[in-house]
Amino acid sequence: LIRLERVTKRFGDNTVLDNLDFAVDAGKHVTLIGPSGSGKTTILRLLMTLLKPDEGTITVDGQKLFPASEKERREVRKQIGMVFQQFNLFPNMTVLRNITEAPVTVLGLSKDEAVERARELLDMVGLGDKCDAHPAQLSGGQQQRVAIARALAMRPKVLLLDEVTSALDPELVAGVLDLLRDIARSTDITMLCVTHEMNFARDISDQVLMFDSGRVIEAGPPEKIFSEPEHDRTREFLSAVL
Ligand code: ATP
Repeated sequence: LIRLERVTKRFGDNTVLDNLDFAVDAGKHVTLIGPSGSGKTTILRLLMTLLKPDEGTITVDGQKLFPASEKERREVRKQIGMVFQQFNLFPNMTVLRNITEAPVTVLGLSKDEAVERARELLDMVGLGDKCDAHPAQLSGGQQQRVAIARALAMRPKVLLLDEVTSALDPELVAGVLDLLRDIARSTDITMLCVTHEMNFARDISDQVLMFDSGRVIEAGPPEKIFSEPEHDRTREFLSAVL
């Protein structure tokens, strides 16, 4: 479903992604792990079209994301949802409006349809009673649940998760991860996650990719990567984080 071919991204003379190839099949859950600065977040930002690659091609469901016209890119973008570390909710909008905004303006849903969809999603994430609240009135864990509902409201084929629990108080982490486990189990959405939560990665991943210096140095099912890593760098990284 997602295919990156020979993708290179540089910031000045810092080559953050170096001739990278990888693919994610439809419905699979792939987790990117690796040291800070190894380029994991950059991949998600490329898929969100927040950045452009310097070289290489990216396609989603056979449609071009890079290189592509703005029009082509907008069409592909509709199929991709992202949840950020810092929630990134619209602070001046209610919870309900945060979720209905894009389905109405981007997908052209009627307001009633969007509200119905939003209410279902808020029930699913356990916040059915918070429709009229503003983000600042919610805990970090609740805000992140709203952000997850907002991403799902677009019915994306792909859900990108960028260290979604890193900004949460420790006691709120488990609830958000449980919600994401449920989503992974109960939907056919393709997930690409960057996380430092190795137990979560082990539970939900079909495949784990270990990054180092802008390259995938090791890939495999979680039981293999976590139990019998082949690379010294993977072993060092895991012994530091586990
Ligand atoms: P982390 O776990 O810390 O988020 P990461 O593996 O996700 O790490 P990236 O965020 O992809 O790493 O960053 C990779 C490198 O790119 C880092 O060296 C970072 O400093 C650099 N970088 C990222 N964004 C920019 C930018 N907008 N301008 C310049 N350099 C950047």
